[in-house]
Amino acid sequence: MNVNKKCPHYKKCGGCQIHNLDYPDQLEFKMRKVVRLLGRLHRVENIIGMENPYHYRNKVQAAFGRDKQNRIISGVYQSSTHRIVPVDSCLIEDEKADEIIVTIRKLLKSFKLKTFDDNRLTGFLRHVLVKRGFSSGEIMVVLVTGSEEFKSRRSFVNALLSKHPEITTIVQNINNKRTSLVLGDKSIVLYGDGTIKEQLCGFTFTISPKSFYQINPIQTEILYNKAMEFAEIKKTDIVIDAYCGTGTIGIIASRHAGQVIGVELNRDAVRDAKKNARINDVKNIDFVCEDAGRYMVGLAEEGLSADVVIMDPPRAGSDLNFLRSLIKLSPRKVVYVSCNPETLRRDLIFLSKNKYKVRKIQPVDMFPHTEHVETVVLLTK
Ligand code: SAH
Repeated sequence: MNVNKKCPHYKKCGGCQIHNLDYPDQLEFKMRKVVRLLGRLHRVENIIGMENPYHYRNKVQAAFGRDKQNRIISGVYQSSTHRIVPVDSCLIEDEKADEIIVTIRKLLKSFKLKTFDDNRLTGFLRHVLVKRGFSSGEIMVVLVTGSEEFKSRRSFVNALLSKHPEITTIVQNINNKRTSLVLGDKSIVLYGDGTIKEQLCGFTFTISPKSFYQINPIQTEILYNKAMEFAEIKKTDIVIDAYCGTGTIGIIASRHAGQVIGVELNRDAVRDAKKNARINDVKNIDFVCEDAGRYMVGLAEEGLSADVVIMDPPRAGSDLNFLRSLIKLSPRKVVYVSCNPETLRRDLIFLSKNKYKVRKIQPVDMFPHTEHVETVVLLTK
């Protein structure tokens, strides 16, 4: 357990920056990083690692192309280049997803389907995206293609399903633009209903091809439970779930709260969040599609208050609008979930100078073998 499985692609791929360290040393590396950045604000709890730090990624993406011998390859882009490193099995990706991608590569050949050429913008298959519900077992396959026309579509889908009957939905997504984004605007459902479901902390969530969903389900549950433990929400509390994505944290918090408001900028995510609230029959939650900072300014100007604010901003962290209004709203507790300890540090220093005090710092290893570390922090007045 203490000795790493070795990845043959480690150097070329670049996705796992600290794979050269054994897992306990990786945890120590991340712990030291968090202590260096946040240790002056409060003592840092021991990082929560994974018992089995492999094959945790429930979302797997492969680029398709050709090698110098013109053979079809699938894999990952070499870090900061556009060259595909062929990868059939990855130590951190879901194993079933990897198997499905290899099957698709073999099927391409027998169906005489082409791979997409990024330079000429011609050809067919560009990427395959697989998402798997860890507890539901549901699997979504997204075939990202350069054209809408799909030769022998029905037999291709049937062939894939007969090799992998565990697939629950297949979607074709069309992306014919010169872009580094994987997904294009148009999707056509080829099999199933185009979404999968996943259970987390006793609730069910819908995942669509484009919606954000945490990629490590085991650690996500630990992270969210920590956030709830820190928040100590009461039945009368008004709770704000800022940067709420598809509403996961807010829906989990709703069980303990009086009322929850989720705020999120991405329209698709808000639509999914509303749907998730409906599926779970949660009635004490509302979602607002707005910039979180602007929304908070509005609340503060109206003289409204909140009892608990949970915030989970993207890597860039929060902004001054948000933080200033947070201080005005003056919630009893703030729980800050962060995927970037550097911007977390900046925001915590600001809050520490303005009536809040850091009470707990808990790092969680959501992304073993990579340099990334997630941290949840409790602040009170
Ligand atoms: N809490 C969610 C999502 C966290 S990811 C979860 O755990 O699943 C961060 C989210 O912040 C993304 O969904 C992103 O769309 C959103 N976001 C980014 N900038 C924002 C802003 N200025 N205002 C509101 N939401 C924002």
